[in-house]
Amino acid sequence: MKSPFHIMLIPTLGCPAHCSYCWSSETGSPRMSIDTVKETVAWLKDFKKDQVTITFHGGEPLLGGVEFFRQALPLLSEGLSQLRPAFAMQSNLWLLTPELADILAEYHVPIGSSIDGPEELNDSQRGDGYFKKTMKGYEIAKAHGLQVRFICTFTGESVKRKEEIFRFFLDNGFVMKLHPALPSLRSENPKQWALEPAVYGELLVFLLDKYLENFGKIEIMNINDLCRCVSTRRGSVCTFADCMGSTFAIGPDGSIYPCYRFVGMDEWVMGNVRDHPTQETLANTVAGKRMQEYKEFVDTACRECSHIRYCRGGCPYNAIVPTGGEIRGVDPHCVAYKRVFDVMNDRVNAEMFKDDDMDITAFSPFGPAPKRTKKAGMLDLMHSVLSK
Ligand code: SF4
Ligand code: SF4
Repeated sequence: MKSPFHIMLIPTLGCPAHCSYCWSSETGSPRMSIDTVKETVAWLKDFKKDQVTITFHGGEPLLGGVEFFRQALPLLSEGLSQLRPAFAMQSNLWLLTPELADILAEYHVPIGSSIDGPEELNDSQRGDGYFKKTMKGYEIAKAHGLQVRFICTFTGESVKRKEEIFRFFLDNGFVMKLHPALPSLRSENPKQWALEPAVYGELLVFLLDKYLENFGKIEIMNINDLCRCVSTRRGSVCTFADCMGSTFAIGPDGSIYPCYRFVGMDEWVMGNVRDHPTQETLANTVAGKRMQEYKEFVDTACRECSHIRYCRGGCPYNAIVPTGGEIRGVDPHCVAYKRVFDVMNDRVNAEMFKDDDMDITAFSPFGPAPKRTKKAGMLDLMHSVLSK
């Protein structure tokens, strides 16, 4: 299955924060001009007919400034109205002002921000003062009715305090999205913060258990996504679908890349919005062909895996970029995906056929919730996720 049509706009790769494990920010990165936004609109008008989600990403997108968003949002919204654009943003919120919040609220821009856990833990990974600055922006966002979800990056260090981190999200009523720290390609010691795939797998199972123990009291986006994959047998987020051809990122100078993760890497440039390339032109670039090769590689490499339909070999960036562009294997997080998909499938089967405390005839994606007398299980989670 292909991902939905997704465009990531990167106003700059600059960022005022200096997180220890960051692999994507770049000091001195240029800023995107409004002219580049206009060219993006002109390019996308005839590029695809599918509904589009446009995410402002970075670096830190708010470095674009008030004037940028005041002009860019109406240009994109009105210029691409036939594609019914939905917007989103990934920001640490440090630079959010009431004025910016008003503009974002007018265009219903939900924000994904980042907090790794309690203040002292967060700041030990993301730098002194980070937590307070993000929380200050969060208060402004809330006051202006903006929806904020927090991405929690688990590193090899912070995972040792996973219980405390979960409790922090639960107690604060934050929706959690987790992200495993990746080996940084810009660091001399790339694995220093990275979360080992096997540890990541155990973390996902831990969070599944915690989620079920506290059913209805917290949302963990990744567990919902994994559960949706298992329930529908189709990838529900880009990592578990074929993102090639349906996701693109536009760098500050208008360069087009396969995804925000590649922005700033010259060898992954597919073209420029000023040239209005067609889908076919992009697919025939070196980067486009490499992404397609990955898809074909997965068809063979993952052929025997029972999860192939809704995993699709994971993220191509994770698989290809650390090996300098060579396709030597699938996403190294395969171990983690397999672990949690196995657990979820085994539990569904066990609950369907062995649990006599539940009326299984009541289970339907659209019907009433299963009747249970015990703590929540996978079927409850499936019902909740599918009915959203
Ligand atoms: S490269 Fe990875 S992160 Fe980027 S769109 Fe594809 S699956 Fe998602
Ligand atoms: S779990 Fe691993 S082997 Fe199975 S489809 Fe995903 S990446 Fe491939």
